[in-house]
Amino acid sequence: MRRDLIVVGAGPAGLCAAIEAAGQGLDVVVYDENAKPGGQLFKQIHKFFGSKEHRARERGFRIGEQLLQEAADLGVEVVLGAPVIGLYQGLTVQAQIDARIERVRANGVILATGASENMIPFPGWTLPGVIGAGAAQTMANLHGIRPGNDLLMVGCGNVGVVVAYQMLQAGCRVRAMIDAGSTIGGYGVHAAKVARTGVPFHLGHTIVRAEGDARVESATIAQVDDRWQPVPGTEKQLDVDTVCLAVGLSPSIQLAAMAGCRMLHLPEMGGRVPVRREDCSTSVSGLYVVGDAGGIEEASSAMIQGRMAGMACAMEQGFISPVVGKDRLRMLRDSLDRLREGPFGERIRGAENRMQAVLPSRLEETA
Ligand SMILES: Cc1cc2nc3c(=O)[nH]c(=O)nc-3n(C[C@H](O)[C@H](O)[C@H](O)COP(=O)(O)OP(=O)(O)OC[C@H]3O[C@@H](n4cnc5c(N)ncnc54)[C@H](O)[C@@H]3O)c2cc1C
Repeated sequence: MRRDLIVVGAGPAGLCAAIEAAGQGLDVVVYDENAKPGGQLFKQIHKFFGSKEHRARERGFRIGEQLLQEAADLGVEVVLGAPVIGLYQGLTVQAQIDARIERVRANGVILATGASENMIPFPGWTLPGVIGAGAAQTMANLHGIRPGNDLLMVGCGNVGVVVAYQMLQAGCRVRAMIDAGSTIGGYGVHAAKVARTGVPFHLGHTIVRAEGDARVESATIAQVDDRWQPVPGTEKQLDVDTVCLAVGLSPSIQLAAMAGCRMLHLPEMGGRVPVRREDCSTSVSGLYVVGDAGGIEEASSAMIQGRMAGMACAMEQGFISPVVGKDRLRMLRDSLDRLREGPFGERIRGAENRMQAVLPSRLEETA
């Protein structure tokens, strides 16, 4: 069987890619390894930031519901419980569905596999009770389970401050927020909400160890020097049963690497990433990478990237004329640029310039 388009990952990036392509008449199938579609969106019970154009003030799970409805209305087939375990020459995708392995070829493949959480090793880090902040968010917001009673949050970026507030809402006590850096990286409004509840923020601190017999019973933190090494004599012990690590995400690039995409190490994108043109196409013909899998950003930019790749696929396969397709791509690109205005966007623009030195833009060729 040969499909027009296979999308791997039913998060915001993958669903938007599928919607855009199906809207142009492509036959689209989406595979997701989870039992439920939506990726991270259904964990996001808080309101989005930015402008109305980028769905500010809407809650993530509401956006997820709308995208799923749109995809269903356009006849997109979403196959769940289907991890994609291989991507081979000729855009052949190998998925595991129940006990069988399915191999399907496609004229286009869009990888929207998201990211995985980073961990930091320290004595006691394998004790039950040391978990990723994303895992804590999944337990509380998707499964209705409080991950613990007394928490230490390691990392004050967006994931750290948002998840800390959601843990307070779930009834946990957040004993402290720590970060090795000297500033809070997360949005001020979220950090302020946490701070107003009396949770102490210890900047310039790291976790030294977690202790306990069968699970975490306490954690020790300490100040760091300018090389982020613990300063002896500054240790403090906290009575916690849960340590949440919110220390960054890494793009899930395994399938792109397997397909032979050219890669670059770009720390500002979260590490090793496939080199992409501005329409999210890679060095492998017909293969696109969108959302966090191409570089860590946010759900809003993941959705625009998905749409760009869906439109580029439709154009590549002749479902839409290059003139109309490129107009739509430029419009989406402008929207992405507006989203990336400001200091967060600066690092992305720098990374994009490095990628375009390797793979020049196709959008401007015939502009
Ligand atoms: C743990 C975590 C917490 C976050 N919390 C917030 C937050 O609170 N607020 C916020 O604005 N942003 C948050 N983000 C960021 C935001 O959710 C992401 O930027 C956005 O979800 C990226 O969308 P995506 O579609 O690229 O990836 P995701 O939403 O992660 O979706 C990827 C999908 O791909 C599927 N998948 C992965 N590999 C395979 C495979 N091999 N085969 C089949 N399916 C596969 C996964 O099951 C998943 O459904 C968080 C991100 C993470 C990782």
